Amino acid sequence: MRFDSPINRPIITSNGVVRPTLVEVDLGRLADNFHAIRRKVAPAMMMPILKANAYGHGLVEVARLMESLGADYLGVAVLEEGILLREEGIRTPILVLGGILGNQVPHFLKHDLTITASSIEKLWQVDEIAEQLGVKARVHLKIDTGMERIGVHYYSADELLDASVKCKHLDVEGVFSHFASSDAADLRYARLQIERFEEVLTFFEKRNLPPPRLRHMANSGAVLQLPEAYFDMVRPGLILYGVYPSLEAAHTVELSPALSWKSRVVYFKVIKPGHPVGYGSTWQSDHMVRAVTVPVGYGDGYFRAMSNQAQVLIRGKRYPVVGRISMDQIVVNIEWESAYNDDEVVLIGDMGDEAITAEDLAEWAGTIPYEILTNINTRVPRVYMKRIT
Ligand SMILES: *Cc1c(COP(=O)(O)O)cnc(C)c1O
Repeated sequence: MRFDSPINRPIITSNGVVRPTLVEVDLGRLADNFHAIRRKVAPAMMMPILKANAYGHGLVEVARLMESLGADYLGVAVLEEGILLREEGIRTPILVLGGILGNQVPHFLKHDLTITASSIEKLWQVDEIAEQLGVKARVHLKIDTGMERIGVHYYSADELLDASVKCKHLDVEGVFSHFASSDAADLRYARLQIERFEEVLTFFEKRNLPPPRLRHMANSGAVLQLPEAYFDMVRPGLILYGVYPSLEAAHTVELSPALSWKSRVVYFKVIKPGHPVGYGSTWQSDHMVRAVTVPVGYGDGYFRAMSNQAQVLIRGKRYPVVGRISMDQIVVNIEWESAYNDDEVVLIGDMGDEAITAEDLAEWAGTIPYEILTNINTRVPRVYMKRIT
């Protein structure tokens, strides 16, 4: 990614740009991804998912962008994320996707956050508290169609729907479910989940009742692979940030990664053969090499599991990380090539013709790109870039 063109400039720096190790978020690419997904799913509405610090991209900044782009709803995982967005002036409706505890309900109501109701008991509880406070609680009902996490089972959903119709202090605006494997090559289980959800929704027809205004089910995998799951609204997370959820998932929307993770060379040296690098002395060379030290480590979320696996880009070329990844530093073998103090080091992102992706790091660490992005922790400052058009 290059920002040296006059039409690119940083627009916000959060912690200042003091630390050489930082994350650059390209708001232009985020906007492009949003529009690409919107075109794909139209006329369905969009609920961008912003949980876990917007997948590491910065909760508040991404929420502001999504609001300015006309997102219909925002999705977060926990109450605190929703409150923070309200305190920062976000006005778009916000659904908190996770389960709730009774003592949280007044906070939902005070901050105008939409509640996920995942059992009859919770529904009654919310209704009662809303009555006491003299307000209507906005609620989305969660149906478990095959994830066994939260939600009322599809085979006993009628009771929940029945109860929801009777509650006087609720605005039952939505009903939703969640996929277990919509990003797989084999979509049989995902299709079974859609069938179960559709069967649950026939409740309203059978009772001659209008269904809730917002029926939703599709996460990233389903946006890519299951148009029949769009219903009234979709809930894309990972693809919004420009990353595909799995290797198998069909790439039916063109995306570009919005996040780059960069650092700089802080030290240069020559390592003699037989002189091992790092904790545990897990790597040594049999010939003289040049090496550089870069100030990033597992204390930033650069997983130790990538030791002796990861690669970085310096001066447009790929080089291997050698020895164990420490809490705050890594060592990169540049063989007999040149690098200088202060040279830029790309951990995720592109440089020249080369690119390193969150998927690459996930493979080296034995995990998924979701975990790579959400683990880049708050010690790493976020800087926001936008094309000025
Ligand atoms: C995280 C989450 C999403 C988004 O998932 P992606 O795979 O990132 O698109 C959607 N819905 C719910 C309920 C979630 O928890």
